[in-house]
Amino acid sequence: MKKIYDFMVIGGGILGLSTAMQLQQRHPGCSLLVLEKEAVLSRHQTGRNSGVIHAGVYYKPGSLKAKFCKQGNIATKAFCREHGIAFDEFGKLLVATNDTELQRMQGLIERCAENEIEIEVLDAEQLREREPNISGVGAIYVPSTGIVSYAAIVEKMAQIVRENGADIELATEVDKLEEFTDRVTAYTAAGRFQARFLVACGGLQSDRIVRMLGIEPDFRIIPFRGEYYQLDSQHNQIVNHLIYPIPDPTLPFLGVHLTRMIDGSVTVGPNAVLAFRREGYRRRDFSLRDSIETFSWPGMLRLLKRHYRSSLTELKNSLSKPGYLKQVQKYCPQLKLSDLQAYPAGIRAQAVARDGSLVDDFLFRNSRRALVVCNAPSPAATSAIPIGGHIIDQLETLMEKDAELA
Ligand SMILES: Cc1cc2nc3c(=O)[nH]c(=O)nc-3n(C[C@H](O)[C@H](O)[C@H](O)COP(=O)(O)OP(=O)(O)OC[C@H]3O[C@@H](n4cnc5c(N)ncnc54)[C@H](O)[C@@H]3O)c2cc1C
Repeated sequence: MKKIYDFMVIGGGILGLSTAMQLQQRHPGCSLLVLEKEAVLSRHQTGRNSGVIHAGVYYKPGSLKAKFCKQGNIATKAFCREHGIAFDEFGKLLVATNDTELQRMQGLIERCAENEIEIEVLDAEQLREREPNISGVGAIYVPSTGIVSYAAIVEKMAQIVRENGADIELATEVDKLEEFTDRVTAYTAAGRFQARFLVACGGLQSDRIVRMLGIEPDFRIIPFRGEYYQLDSQHNQIVNHLIYPIPDPTLPFLGVHLTRMIDGSVTVGPNAVLAFRREGYRRRDFSLRDSIETFSWPGMLRLLKRHYRSSLTELKNSLSKPGYLKQVQKYCPQLKLSDLQAYPAGIRAQAVARDGSLVDDFLFRNSRRALVVCNAPSPAATSAIPIGGHIIDQLETLMEKDAELA
């Protein structure tokens, strides 16, 4: 008889490992299996992001994002302190470069008040004092924003999970799921694995995992590549904080920013360009299956119609380094083309609804014995610890219902 684990987690990114670690804390002695299709952990979003520990400035008050980001900011730093993982609290400046942005900044100031995020409002002179190389007419300073390597956090979580007796199977892709009255079976090329309950944190594959459970998802994962450059190392001291533009509220992403990374380097980016392959990190990467799934989704055409102008601008700036540079020169005029050096891209898993709206908040779906994370874009790395707790709360409700039925 094949072993039946208490819990099985699909996905070796930060959500999978955070959930696995907290499952062991809440259910000491439980048997637990983590399945990851790549040969290493953090191969996708978790290992290819900006590394920012967000404070929670932008998110709609009352949303899961607003709540978990704020809790996650504190929890992530506490986890790093407890386990000796390097992180820094440089704080962040949201810089307005003209009167329109200054007006938009007011909206963000109000949002920070609603979300109870501590900030300081700076005028042009105060901004210059803090950041001599940044020009703007005003800024919001957010002291609690930090920086970390989320891959380093995952490594530590994986070590804890293994030490507490869990199995982590790498290079093991789940390609079929079957749910029975008493268990869930995952089929892989290495054989089948069984557990009483399943959690799936599959990032860019999450809609496919929902479908494996026999549920037709009411969203599709659309991949948006985030391309970065790294500044030449002579510019590692060019800024003292993380520098963000004031986002255009009609656009879904935050805008190209200057990030002081945990290794001391400074990155520029990311932009947001529609990708033709979910896990293809180069511009030329293409997958017929992924592209058909993207463009056959009714919401995709609606999304393109709504954002065609900004999509074209993003594409143009992706293909043209001078165009990309211009976005940063707006607030950091001294940077030149030769300062921008190649840096690996990341791809965001963004759920898009049938009506063409980008699913804004974190989203989950469940069956009787399985819970799938469906939409976990930024700030999900910051929020990973509270999201893991939330997943377990929901799973425990499924377990209670199951016990009643038994
Ligand atoms: C460019 C970019 C910048 C970002 N910047 C930030 C930031 O600064 N701060 C922040 O908080 N967030 C940021 N984010 C968001 C953050 O990285 C993600 O929200 C977070 O990493 C999601 O974690 P995850 O575990 O859900 O996904 P992932 O890290 O993508 O992990 C999913 C895992 O599931 C595995 N998997 C999928 N299908 C299967 C299967 N069938 N069988 C087995 N395994 C499977 C995959 O191989 C993968 O390892 C950024 C994201 C991007 C792309």
